[in-house]
Amino acid sequence: MKAQIKLFRIWGIQIGLHYSWLLIALLVVLSLAGRFEATNPQWGTNVVWAVAILTSLLFFAAIVLHELSHAAIARVRGLPVKSITLFALGGVAQIEKEASDPKTEFWMGIVGPITSALIGGLCLMAAALMGWDPAARHQSPPLAMLVWLGIINIALAVFNMVPGFPLDGGRVLRAIVWWITGNSDRATRIAATTGQGIAFVFIIVGLFRFFNGAGFGGLWLTFIGWFLLDAARSSYAQTEILKHLRGVRVRDVMTHDWPAIDSQTNLQTFVDEHLLRSGHRNFAVRDNGRVAGLITPHEVKDIDRMRWQQMTVGEAMVPLDRLHGVKPATQVTEALEKMGREDVNQLVVLSNSHLDGIVSRGNILRLLQTRAELGR
Ligand SMILES: [Zn+2]
Repeated sequence: MKAQIKLFRIWGIQIGLHYSWLLIALLVVLSLAGRFEATNPQWGTNVVWAVAILTSLLFFAAIVLHELSHAAIARVRGLPVKSITLFALGGVAQIEKEASDPKTEFWMGIVGPITSALIGGLCLMAAALMGWDPAARHQSPPLAMLVWLGIINIALAVFNMVPGFPLDGGRVLRAIVWWITGNSDRATRIAATTGQGIAFVFIIVGLFRFFNGAGFGGLWLTFIGWFLLDAARSSYAQTEILKHLRGVRVRDVMTHDWPAIDSQTNLQTFVDEHLLRSGHRNFAVRDNGRVAGLITPHEVKDIDRMRWQQMTVGEAMVPLDRLHGVKPATQVTEALEKMGREDVNQLVVLSNSHLDGIVSRGNILRLLQTRAELGR
């Protein structure tokens, strides 16, 4: 999930919004306004809308806090966290590595629901201190806000503890099975299967409620179930892939025979006679007989076409020392994580700061295809 709207950074973690969030934010504001209008008509229209908008903002802040708690545990356990993105169904913290032991997985999973439950509990406690009377017909704006935030955060904590992967409860279940059996693959399989089962229940209950007149609420449940089903499947597929790649090193999949180009060649010639003719994408740039850098279509497309005649490949390339490199002995899974983290499709393989090869997502994909074809 990539954020399309970037907001700000906390501890170096980019907080952002996915477009789908805008829709849900609108729905939350509208439904809150409708609810406050119905329960507290004495507030007047302006106050109703102001309270609805403020409550929604605090609700999304609480979701960010929930995700930040996952991120904090990940950080403490040495797992890098790149970003937190809010989307239609909540938040997602992009943690760049899988937990390497069940304890980390357990705490990383359970801290989110604990955080939401704490926030909810604090809101309700504050409401109680302000004299909250659940039987009262009308409420003051701060009280209505605190009560709603309290209940929704506790509901979030409960929903997240549903033991279906990839919900937090699924992670916790996976961690416990992993802890007991000592087998992370088996734990993933069990958590993913449970997740799919729960997703089916959501879909069926949602459809049942929809056809019994529950309307949007029923469809919403079905939609969440469908999302969970998809997420459980793909996280399972991902661990299957990682299983196939375990033990494979970069040197086993990297290419050695990449085409070379002289650094004095101008970009126009490079594009017309090399890039568009050979089918290769990565070119090593040679300068006085040694490899000085790498050039790919990515570097060329950012340069104005009018300048292609004057500019040389040597000027446009990414120099060797600025390239993201891995060692031949690096695990392929680690190389994939690095590509994801740095948002690139290939890495150069460097041994003693000289270019040894190139490893790309394509190389790794072909290896997986071959292994799947041969059933290995
Ligand atoms: Zn969570």
